[in-house]
Amino acid sequence: MRLRNITGSREMIGESRFVIHDPKNRKNRWRELFGNSHPLQIEIGMGKGRFIMELARSHPEINYVGIEKYSSVLVRGIQKMEAEQEPLPNLYFIRMDAEEITEVFGQAEVDKIYLNFSDPWPKDRHAKRRLPSREFLNRYREILCEKGTLEFKTDNQALFTFALEELKPACWHLDQVTYDLHHDKIMMKDNVKTEYEERFSSMGNPIYKYIISMERRTKMEYTFTAENFEKEVLSSEIPVFVDFYADWCGPCKMMAPVVEKLAEKYEGKVKVGKCNIDNENAIAAQYGVMSIPTMSVFVNGKTQETIVGAVPGEQLEEMIEKFL
Ligand code: SAM
Repeated sequence: MRLRNITGSREMIGESRFVIHDPKNRKNRWRELFGNSHPLQIEIGMGKGRFIMELARSHPEINYVGIEKYSSVLVRGIQKMEAEQEPLPNLYFIRMDAEEITEVFGQAEVDKIYLNFSDPWPKDRHAKRRLPSREFLNRYREILCEKGTLEFKTDNQALFTFALEELKPACWHLDQVTYDLHHDKIMMKDNVKTEYEERFSSMGNPIYKYIISMERRTKMEYTFTAENFEKEVLSSEIPVFVDFYADWCGPCKMMAPVVEKLAEKYEGKVKVGKCNIDNENAIAAQYGVMSIPTMSVFVNGKTQETIVGAVPGEQLEEMIEKFL
């Protein structure tokens, strides 16, 4: 979001009591500023501030910092703060580029990071500027506490797919994901809409969201091939979930972390694995895989149920649970 330059916005920010003007001097001392030891949550790219202000109003027991790069945008947040009936003592703003985030917050000083409708930077050569890129994830790792989480929402499918793909190389763990937040009862609970979310969801766009953490969990899903298909799938004593996929398939990439999560969840109860249809075209042909991702549950050597296409993880869990 880049509004036309608003005359006087820099001056207004310079004089505002809601803005921290020397953020680098606050490093490791944010709790002193708030005068308490409450958790600290930050929103990067807060835009006009609706989301973080709503959080600050509803959670006086949490401290918040909203970060925005452009004066012409931040000034809108300041105007909103001025219009509040009661000042929000648990919220401050910073005008800065998030590239400098590790100079402003100390190690493990932040409890939660929110990224909402981050700029997509669609050109490949700008990938490093995307706020959920591995470069930024590495910066967030430095400031987030061990049990901290990062929540990211967007309506941009390409950006979301990219963000999911960045998790593994940056060693982050996908805790929760939805491809249609506003129809996801669990993840929609306590949702606070941002300005962009209001606009794009009213146009009918689905909203994607993930919650990630830095904990590493290393349970791996199976890889099914012609060599092991008979033994691992057809003769398995427990149900088997097979994800027929290909490396070039966008929806398959979106499903990959979801399948990984299923492997963790059902470890010991269901074998969860992937079958690359380009490498294993005889298996794909035998099971009539016409479109991918195709995800099937096998019991006693036979396909019991199949779902085709990218779907929410809950739908796959429902299918699996029938055979437990
Ligand atoms: N989060 C708001 C919402 O959902 O309504 C605003 C979304 S807007 C598309 C993205 C915002 O992130 C813009 O206001 C932009 O200036 C800000 N932004 C982009 N890159 C940034 C960066 N590196 N550091 C700080 N803010 C950034």
